[in-house]
Amino acid sequence: MAKVILRNLNKTFVDQQSKKEVNAVKDLDLEIHDGEFMVLVGPSGCGKTTTMRMVAGLEEVTSGEILIGERVVNDVPPRDRNIAMVFQNYALYPHMSVYDNMAFGLRLRMLPPIWEQLANPGKTKEIKASIDAKIQAAAKKLDITDYLDRKPKALSGGQRQRVALGRAIVREPEVFLMDEPLSNLDAKLRVQTRFELINLHRELKVTTIYVTHDQVEAMTMGQRIAVMNNGLLQQCDTPQNIYRHPANMFVAGFIGMPPMNFVKGATVQMEGARPVIHCGGFSVTLSAERTNVLAAYVGKEVVFGVRPEHLNDKSLVSGTPENVIRAQVEVIEQMGATSNLYISLGGHALVSVVDASTIAKENAPLDIVIDAEHCHVFDKDTEKAIF
Ligand code: ATP
Repeated sequence: MAKVILRNLNKTFVDQQSKKEVNAVKDLDLEIHDGEFMVLVGPSGCGKTTTMRMVAGLEEVTSGEILIGERVVNDVPPRDRNIAMVFQNYALYPHMSVYDNMAFGLRLRMLPPIWEQLANPGKTKEIKASIDAKIQAAAKKLDITDYLDRKPKALSGGQRQRVALGRAIVREPEVFLMDEPLSNLDAKLRVQTRFELINLHRELKVTTIYVTHDQVEAMTMGQRIAVMNNGLLQQCDTPQNIYRHPANMFVAGFIGMPPMNFVKGATVQMEGARPVIHCGGFSVTLSAERTNVLAAYVGKEVVFGVRPEHLNDKSLVSGTPENVIRAQVEVIEQMGATSNLYISLGGHALVSVVDASTIAKENAPLDIVIDAEHCHVFDKDTEKAIF
């Protein structure tokens, strides 16, 4: 296995039509640890695939360095990088059986030229047996042994993706590169395959870079997540840290569903020993511990952020909570275990996620508790999190 280091990586394309430069990846610094499952996530066009293609050697680097293990691979051709790729579209050879699809790369790599094979049949047999053992082992792991004789067209999407994975596994690479490998599968199969991929990684412990635009996949699969936007790395951390402590408004809004509520034009005041965020229509009193970090913002405008699950129905909260505000419930979406409440809070349209046992009714008032411990405040100019 190997770590992968991206050092000040840049990629600039020149658009063929407009002749304008597109900075697809900008100054990317990222270290993927040996054996780690790293997810690159971000909206369409943020530079995920370009980053992946540069690691794979399919795209030339404009500037910066890529290291796999201890070796700078900028000028190393893809086949010599010891990586294996799995893509959204499987890229299987349609005229070959599943077995041959999995064996193809291994035969190219392991078998000597045909005249040498003929000259040394004993050795050839040995190599073929070793290829067969790898295929049988991978097929067993992926539960595709029964399909080894079939052609890809006779398989379901999920089965085809497993063959593509099998082909990657048998190469025993140092690094797996996976670009949206689940996006052609239906919702149920995605969840199942997601789980299988996690288990496979636990077993094989191969360093993996996984590209997706799906934040649920990122949260559930990544040991760490690198969130990108407009070619720039926004934050790289564990899923929990990204969710609890987003570095800026982009990450806060991108990770989490329904997304974090933002109230722009809020102001910070000190009232007694505690900071208060005035949001126009409602205010939130924070704990005294936030005083220092907000000191530079007193009297200034900030952006207030609160996740939907931190706006609760008061009737579901025990004790005598602080920061209770009368809201108007406009629409309720029943999600099963929870309900999404579309509320008007001090004239701001916000979303709250509460337990389905809520007493909320559409077009009726409801006391909402704002959980000040879990609120966020952002600098209005830089959009960076103050906390
Ligand atoms: P998606 O999720 O839609 O695949 P992505 O995050 O993978 O998006 P990239 O494919 O890496 O994004 O593209 C990043 C930017 O680079 C985009 O603005 C894209 O239009 C541009 N780009 C990619 N390839 C080329 C190219 N060959 N020529 C010009 N621009 C390109």
